[in-house]
Amino acid sequence: MPWGGTEEPAWEGGHDEREQTLNQLLVEMDGFESNDGVILISATNRPDVLDPALMRPGRFDRQVVVPIPDVKGREAILRVHTKKNPLSGNVSLQVLARGTPGFTGADLENMVNEGALLAAKQGKSQIEMTDLEQAKDKVLMGTERKSMIIPYEERRNIAYHESGHTLVTKMIPGTDPIHKVTIIPRGRALGLTQRLPIDEKHIYPKDYLLNNIAVFMGGRAAEEIVLHIQTTGSHEDIEQSTELARKMVCEWGMSEKMGPLAFGQKEEQIFLGREFARHKDYSERTAQDIDEEIKQIVDNSYDSARKIIEENIDLLHSLANSLLERESLDGDQIDKIVKGEKI
Ligand code: ZN
Repeated sequence: MPWGGTEEPAWEGGHDEREQTLNQLLVEMDGFESNDGVILISATNRPDVLDPALMRPGRFDRQVVVPIPDVKGREAILRVHTKKNPLSGNVSLQVLARGTPGFTGADLENMVNEGALLAAKQGKSQIEMTDLEQAKDKVLMGTERKSMIIPYEERRNIAYHESGHTLVTKMIPGTDPIHKVTIIPRGRALGLTQRLPIDEKHIYPKDYLLNNIAVFMGGRAAEEIVLHIQTTGSHEDIEQSTELARKMVCEWGMSEKMGPLAFGQKEEQIFLGREFARHKDYSERTAQDIDEEIKQIVDNSYDSARKIIEENIDLLHSLANSLLERESLDGDQIDKIVKGEKI
């Protein structure tokens, strides 16, 4: 029994370390008088599974929610972490804060540390903006594995795959702008199209989700149209699209046919915070309908990705060729290629 602690001791025995800690904590807290001037602060990622005994008046009775920092918060956090580091005059913390949506305090600290390491490796006495930008890419996309040898055929394949994602992103208004596209292996990925949201989003409209599935499908579609093959390189795109479509149908009520209903209750392993199993609380017929709706959503998005690529096939070739030549393209370079300008 997780967090099984109540105020009564558990006579049955078998209570684990966690319960003992909880009980001890409660006993200690009850020892404080209200005028002792002791303030106890504690943090958790799972407020939903806290024992109510902990939250009664006189104990942890005030809750402060600490979400992922917004742009102002990120700038302030960066200021704290760069205090001890000598920064060059060209470093703009404001620009860095704007370019790091979704970063937590720990990510930002990591970025500053990586930046300092990069600067030190080059014997610089100050951290420059380029060091921090490079560090950001490392935190965001993993370390470059330049030593990995990839045969030309595969590089071409990856270049077209990533260009497919990029092209579909550029051609659908309202998708997140591209930060960088690269065919240098990073972390576990052989190629990457990294997008960054302009603003922190808290709710996502249906169109945004459909557009995202189309972007996921852009990689596979480009490979099929140009190289006439299907590869394993798309497996994560396919997984993510299917998962998104399933949530649209089963959790967010975004399928017209199924209506605003929730299907399948989640059973979570609360201490791992992970979805464990799904209760099937609907009929076999409904299950078939759900499968069909999910398939329909992904198929439609695939079709729109394919159409976009076929209509802009010249742009796809320019993007892929530029990638093969330069290995990485940033947002500005991509904009130029899409406008038909030279980079
Ligand atoms: Zn992909």
